[in-house]
Amino acid sequence: MVGLWFSLVLVIGSLVGGLHASAGDADPIYRACVGECEKTGHVGDITIPHCLIWHSDQMKNSSWYMQEPLYLQWKQLNCGSDCCYHCMLQRENERQELGLAPIKYHGKWPFKRIYVFQEPASAAFSALNLVMHFNGWLSFFILVNYKLPLRPQSKRTYYEYTGLWHIYGFLAMNAWLWSALFHTRDFELIEKFDYSSAVALLGFSLILSLLRAFDIKDEATRVMYAAPILAFVTTHILYLNFYELDFGWNMKVCTVMGVAQLLSWAIWAGRTPQPHRLKIWAIVLGGAVAMLLETYDFAPWGGYLDAHALWHATTIPLTCLWWSFAKADAEHRTAVLVKKAK
Ligand SMILES: [Zn+2]
Repeated sequence: MVGLWFSLVLVIGSLVGGLHASAGDADPIYRACVGECEKTGHVGDITIPHCLIWHSDQMKNSSWYMQEPLYLQWKQLNCGSDCCYHCMLQRENERQELGLAPIKYHGKWPFKRIYVFQEPASAAFSALNLVMHFNGWLSFFILVNYKLPLRPQSKRTYYEYTGLWHIYGFLAMNAWLWSALFHTRDFELIEKFDYSSAVALLGFSLILSLLRAFDIKDEATRVMYAAPILAFVTTHILYLNFYELDFGWNMKVCTVMGVAQLLSWAIWAGRTPQPHRLKIWAIVLGGAVAMLLETYDFAPWGGYLDAHALWHATTIPLTCLWWSFAKADAEHRTAVLVKKAK
């Protein structure tokens, strides 16, 4: 379930935040500014060093690395990104003087940068989510391996879902890492990694929720459930990256996977007598409140804090609750199984 909220946050995040046409970048004054800047390396009094390299004669006499294609590509990427940024700020200032409200550029609000950070608040909250997942996963790892008893013969944990939670933890940390990078700089490659990781996390959360909700412990049955989902998610990610980046279709896929796991957790929480099911309900409610934030898509306060950033902030406490659910579940199942073994 929480997998659902987190991954939907990430998926929608990468879709909403994508490099897509908005009112701002359709503005001819803005477009002229970007074109001029990429040619001359200047916006008003500001000089963009990354753009200057194309025009100087220094180029020919400069050191070998400055002529490397990768280095040049990197410069070009930065030149484009810096020009868009400074032209956006200039255009927004002009608009403000005319009494106009902020508009989006390339699918994003006009954020102010802090050093290299394009959307500092969202990047910082993504990094915090990553830290919370690491913290949660680590304390789960210590609990199942060192605090709870192990099976006498195999020395494996009694809890049947240990491995699944480890994979979940890895995918969640991976997804938040790319989210943090994407909010730092929205280069196309990072964007691809960002939504691919989010889709992978969402797909795996679905597998986890099905296996847990329906108490599937037998390996063969697990494979029967997981294989088609894994195959589908892999194909979907390859399709998006190498065939067609169809945001509408991706949204449908993510919604179906999200609703399916919502249902499976609801079924589990509805029929289980375990006390920690309340945590699941709390997470659903918290997630719903967090979702409301994303629907109120307002321009960033002070140029920094927008609805999307707040949304990333709300998943931080939910992450704590989520791993605490995993630990409670491991403790409960272990107690039951140890009792049975005696
Ligand atoms: Zn985001």
